[in-house]
Amino acid sequence: MAWERERRAAIAAVEMASRLCADVQLRLVGSITLAKGDKSPVTVADFGAQAIVNHHLGMLFPHDPIIGEEDAAELRKPENAALTAKVLAAIREIIPTMSEQSALSAIDRGNSMGGREGRYWTLDPVDGTKGFLRHGQYAVALSLIQDGEVQLGVLGCPNLALDRGNGAGSIFVATKGGGAAQIVLDDRSEWPIRVDNVEDPALARFCESVESGHTAQDESAVVAADLGIVFPPVRMDSQCKYGVVARGGASIYLRLPTRKDYVERIWDHAAGALVVTEAGGRVTDVRGKPLDFGCGRGLEANSGVVATNGRFHDRVLAAVAGALGE
Ligand code: AMP
Ligand code: MG
Repeated sequence: MAWERERRAAIAAVEMASRLCADVQLRLVGSITLAKGDKSPVTVADFGAQAIVNHHLGMLFPHDPIIGEEDAAELRKPENAALTAKVLAAIREIIPTMSEQSALSAIDRGNSMGGREGRYWTLDPVDGTKGFLRHGQYAVALSLIQDGEVQLGVLGCPNLALDRGNGAGSIFVATKGGGAAQIVLDDRSEWPIRVDNVEDPALARFCESVESGHTAQDESAVVAADLGIVFPPVRMDSQCKYGVVARGGASIYLRLPTRKDYVERIWDHAAGALVVTEAGGRVTDVRGKPLDFGCGRGLEANSGVVATNGRFHDRVLAAVAGALGE
């Protein structure tokens, strides 16, 4: 199988980072009442998960750049020593031998600029931070891009219940041309996944962000009415939405721009979009253009996202164009 070594490495890295996030959520979000607006648990998880993934990839693929959201500048400031200690303690639950120096330099590997040429990884260590804080859905999202094309995507979804058997904790993985699979977190048993085969858009379930600031929910209601959809939207945070569409739990994921100038970040979509397309679905922007991951850190050439099971994509795009007044 193509990308076998990268696939194994990425799954291992995402699994370790998912465990760190789950630990932090249990200890820091679960046990104390957070002051309103206190983001410290998510900051600990963000830095900790990024250190673990970058450290693991750095050992196996030392020349690969990684694009990530965070850098370690804040953690190096003396006034943030208490935060840095928390990050390190969380990392050492997973990798007991990690030194402060290697953790900080691993975090700093995440500042590549991406682009049309060469190969690089994208990482969103805690995608859906609001979901993480409210004990909802969040994802550790890792992808490998070569010459602007996503080749490998892995989503760690620690709070997403399996749709087969019991238990929570799903990993989704896809390689370009190699299909998509769901893996049990901490168990490694895996099976191939496919989008659903709903043919009639009126019978589709659709999902979207919980946050109305991230997607235009009023417009998506217009799209749903136009398509005759009867089910209410399934709202969930993070790229778990892509995983749910890929395994046939919903037929449509809509992300409609809330403002003209917002540029989607590549780490918010690269892994999820490949998981859906490799599961047999289709992913475009709201105008039907393929997502272009070769523009740098942002999807500059695109606007919003429409992901479907592929059976009625153009019909959904027409409804979206109508709702957006285009
Ligand atoms: P979700 O959990 O699907 O709502 O998406 C979370 C992601 O939304 C975060 O990782 C942010 O990068 C991204 N985001 C932030 N502001 C916006 C916005 N105005 N429109 C779309 N996405 C956004
Ligand atoms: Mg994100």
